[in-house]
Amino acid sequence: MKEVLIATNNAGKAKDFEALFEPFGVRVLTLNDLDEAIDVEETGVTFEENAILKAETVARMLGKIVIADDSGLEVDALDGAPGVYSARYAGTEKSDDANIDKVLNELVEVPTEDRTARFRCVLAVAGPGIETETFSGSCEGLIHTERKGTNGFGYDPIFYVSQQERMMAELSPEEKSLISHRGAALEKLKVKLPQFIEGR
Ligand code: IMP
Repeated sequence: MKEVLIATNNAGKAKDFEALFEPFGVRVLTLNDLDEAIDVEETGVTFEENAILKAETVARMLGKIVIADDSGLEVDALDGAPGVYSARYAGTEKSDDANIDKVLNELVEVPTEDRTARFRCVLAVAGPGIETETFSGSCEGLIHTERKGTNGFGYDPIFYVSQQERMMAELSPEEKSLISHRGAALEKLKVKLPQFIEGR
């Protein structure tokens, strides 16, 4: 079976990628499947910079083609925060629960019509013999006032997907992959996928 290596330690992202690559018959491996622990410090200030940094660093370490994902939530009433700081918005420990609480607290006074937000995702592909490339996608929605749903990860329980009239965490992995920022970015990468996974 063909395999693709995603440069992430995030189990939630890994699950999303499994659903996304399933139709291609491609097995998803992540950094959690490797013997050595790899954690790349994200020093960039844009999703694009961080995605490239992660993809190129891991590709260089392993001598393989890898795909990296940098993504996050942009809330308009918070001037685009948490943005690239989505994973650690509430502190240096990565806590989805604390991050959600922080966003909900900051939006307490904000009426529904002003709670517009979007998820953004940039995928970067890097490795020996190829030029690093990036592919981006986004998904529009509203920040709800409380958590709903148990699927997904991160901010999914408070992200209302207008198109589906449900919270992202209420969608199945297959439903999420059809409308998500990650799905939209992969849709663009898809055309080039054979050259990234063949011969590995
Ligand atoms: P990264 O590892 O810096 O790309 O962190 C991405 C962070 O953005 C995650 O830890 C989540 O908090 C948030 N995020 C990205 N994609 C999603 C998603 O699909 N659903 C919910 N939260 C997401």
